[in-house]
Amino acid sequence: MNSELIEKSKKYLWLPFTQMKDYDENPLIIENGEGIKVKDVYGKEYYDGFSSVWLNVHGHRKQELDDAIKRQLEKIAHSTLLGMTNVPATELAEKLINISPKNLTRVFYSDSGAEAVEIALKMAFQYWKNVGKPEKQKFISMKNGYHGDTIGAVSIGSIDLFHHVYGPLMFESFKAPVPYVYRSESQDPCICRDECLQELEQLLKEHHHTIAALSIESIVQGASGIIVMPEGFLSGVRELCTKYEVLLIVDEVATGFGRTGKMFACEHENVQPDLMAAGKGITGGYLPIAVTFATERIYEAFYDDYSNMKTFFHGHSYTGNQLGCAVALENLRLFEVEEVVEKVAEKSENLKKLLNTLYELPHVGDVRQLGFMCGIELVQSKKMRQPFPSDKRIGYKVSLKMRELGMLTRPLGDVIVLMPPLVSTVEDLKEMIEIIKQAIMEVTNGVLQ
Ligand code: PLP
Repeated sequence: MNSELIEKSKKYLWLPFTQMKDYDENPLIIENGEGIKVKDVYGKEYYDGFSSVWLNVHGHRKQELDDAIKRQLEKIAHSTLLGMTNVPATELAEKLINISPKNLTRVFYSDSGAEAVEIALKMAFQYWKNVGKPEKQKFISMKNGYHGDTIGAVSIGSIDLFHHVYGPLMFESFKAPVPYVYRSESQDPCICRDECLQELEQLLKEHHHTIAALSIESIVQGASGIIVMPEGFLSGVRELCTKYEVLLIVDEVATGFGRTGKMFACEHENVQPDLMAAGKGITGGYLPIAVTFATERIYEAFYDDYSNMKTFFHGHSYTGNQLGCAVALENLRLFEVEEVVEKVAEKSENLKKLLNTLYELPHVGDVRQLGFMCGIELVQSKKMRQPFPSDKRIGYKVSLKMRELGMLTRPLGDVIVLMPPLVSTVEDLKEMIEIIKQAIMEVTNGVLQ
């Protein structure tokens, strides 16, 4: 029965971000989850070390979340948000505004992080048209940025491995640098930050009259390797955007909802975005809801008689889905009563100590962390900061070894990702770090320095 299922998966499926040849060699089908662990069809248990792609908050099968969906099912599963609303979407909107940076006053729903980003881009573009500055049509995005996989999100992305092939399909955007301290010449966070801000200012000086918005991941560039920006960088970007009249789009899809030890990562620097995209943890990892937040100033630029053609013509079939909004509401209630964000901030200190022990290993070059968002960069030579040849696929092999040892994650090249569910205890974190350690040792053992 299980081997039949495996065969079916190989025969019919095409998986995201997956070379199917790799899948065929190492298939895996998850059947159950309980707390921070999942189980495959053979009953083997794994730590969900990457929160099922950076989503999970309270663990799997959290009773309160399950019940919230069941209660909503007794009423209705879905009705549209086009021209009308529904009860949980309305209540959730109020809750979201109460927990978001205070200048954000409106929420626009969608189904995935990429869509939330696309919506922010379209809002920014149309905003300037609506206020009589149609020449502001271009975007600045950040080198090594990632915002999802739809064409607009890819256009403002800049990870060659994922994006290069789609070059001819993308609209152009100016690329500004983000400090990557470990790979910088000086390795000094302040120098690195200031150099990048200066370059950005030069770009803005020359082109600001044609630029609608700048998009940036909030404090941590996730997909390019959990690269944590030095203190003061995001707030510096905010200041420059204000100075040059460019809207700031902050992408909190990966960092939002407690992941970094604040409800939203931009709170670390008291940054107030003009537009903000969020998703992932919003439903505790249960259902696909995403959201684009906007300021009242942006909202008002679209508010007019219909005949003036300022309407935002964008929507999706499942926008504001009741089941999703109901579970998101319950998720946010649990955030409050279980003090999830405060506890992540606390446990992050223990996690930091545990992560630091990884430096004992000869091939751990850099360990980066903000809250429960961690990346461990493996290198061939620590002294020279020299990467492994990419065809060795060290990161991939380490993650397969971790799977064997009972923990799931997905590497970003040779960066091992640890993004545990936010409720993971210090004891759980200890065990996960032990698995990472053992896997790195076994895979890199004997690889020449
Ligand atoms: N933005 C960031 C910063 C992300 O990390 C991701 C996904 O990892 C996305 C956007 C895309 O989100 P989704 O996969 O829900 O479309």
